[in-house]
Amino acid sequence: MTEHTDPAPPGFRLGWEEWVSLPDLGLPAMKAKVDTGAKTSALHAFDIEPFGPASRPKVRFAVHPIPGREDLSIPCSAAIVDRREVTSSNGDSEWRYVIAAEIVVGGRRWPIDLTLTHRGGMAYRMLLGRQALGEDVIVSPGDSCCQPILSYDVYHSQRVREVAPARVLRIAVLSREPHNYSTARLVAEGEARGHVVEVIDTARCYMLLDALAPDVHYDGARLPRFDAVIPRIGASVTAYGTAVIRQFETIGTYCVNGSEGITASRDKLHAHQILARHRIGMPTTAFAASPKDTGNLISLVGGAPLIVKLLESTQGKGVVLAETTNAASSVISAFRGLKASFLVQRFIKEAAGEDIRCLVVGSKVVAAMKRTGAEGDFRSNLHQGGHAITVKITPQEREIAVRAARAFKLNLAGVDLLRAHDGPRVLEVNSSPGLEGIEKSSGKNIVGLLYDEIEKRVRPLPVPKGRRRR
Ligand code: ADP
Repeated sequence: MTEHTDPAPPGFRLGWEEWVSLPDLGLPAMKAKVDTGAKTSALHAFDIEPFGPASRPKVRFAVHPIPGREDLSIPCSAAIVDRREVTSSNGDSEWRYVIAAEIVVGGRRWPIDLTLTHRGGMAYRMLLGRQALGEDVIVSPGDSCCQPILSYDVYHSQRVREVAPARVLRIAVLSREPHNYSTARLVAEGEARGHVVEVIDTARCYMLLDALAPDVHYDGARLPRFDAVIPRIGASVTAYGTAVIRQFETIGTYCVNGSEGITASRDKLHAHQILARHRIGMPTTAFAASPKDTGNLISLVGGAPLIVKLLESTQGKGVVLAETTNAASSVISAFRGLKASFLVQRFIKEAAGEDIRCLVVGSKVVAAMKRTGAEGDFRSNLHQGGHAITVKITPQEREIAVRAARAFKLNLAGVDLLRAHDGPRVLEVNSSPGLEGIEKSSGKNIVGLLYDEIEKRVRPLPVPKGRRRR
């Protein structure tokens, strides 16, 4: 920094990082990042758990005040004053509890609101946002610590060091089928890693809707605080299942797949609109509500042969190939007669009854399989007698599969592609992909890769020795 000749303006000066204390919470020294780009202040906490009566809700949590010293944790509790949706710098949004506490910096003491976040990856234990800065505060972004420096030594004099083992996660698998392959694997793999994994029957969850202390109940009691929820929502319970997930999201639980992405991917029309919005290649698709437009609909997708697909179709049961324009008109009027919603789609003939299932975990395709339909069937669904083998996919296919999963913000997705002459076309994004076929065909521990992703998201990041954060 060069020396300014101007006199320093009056007011309370803060640099881009400052030592602060939060005496109400028993945190006498912490280094905070002063971030005028953020509105709210945040405290990096973990084991965040609401408790107490709904009329006076409280939250308990723990804080590692010294970055890199995960063995020192300070348990805290505070009254909940609000809940707020906060979008972090990486674009992820999260519902957080808001607490009030007094902050002390230099000689000043004033009350601030703090949101509690338990996501890993925050280099500072605390972030001081705009709202917490009074009008006469001058932030000098080029300076570090304009106010007095504190020492972490206070923790050694005041507190007994707790040596905490690697945090065991408490995980819920939301599923109506505790015994199927995918659920059983999710439980077995989680337990093998030392986590506590509970299968919760989606349909038996009930909810308390309340402004400050919403909750999910089960079997006569409030569900405990889960570190993560793995939704396995069947098509028949999409509406209720996504409402339960929404409730978990509201209380700040990390859900592997979010309610919005599941809802959108389940509705073929909505899903195609999202894919189109993200400019992800798919077979040309048309949809109309009025019977007057049948002819136009057929010509929009390039005429026969074409595919007519029920919006609710699963396992290939509502997918029809109409070879001629007459056949297409008859199928469309039959579906209309039944008041069924459907879409009309260009037939990708060259796919020749094969499709590619890409399994996406986080932002990677971890396995892919080629499914081939039964002899003479244009549908490749395994439920229609098809079979699957592992397949090598192209970088273009890999990229489009990841983009499709991201478009729905799904961290576990099965993306189905057709190989068209002019490149891959996304058919569908499945938010509860079956894990048996893909684990068996690839020989990979896909569930293990999913747990790697969950642990990365909800566990505090370990700090390598010698590279401790400031
Ligand atoms: P579902 O959700 O009922 O499984 P899909 O859209 O996945 O319906 O279609 C089932 C199968 O039909 C696909 O796996 C694919 O093999 C075939 N198929 C679907 N749409 C097309 C299309 N436009 N062109 C060629 N084949 C298609």
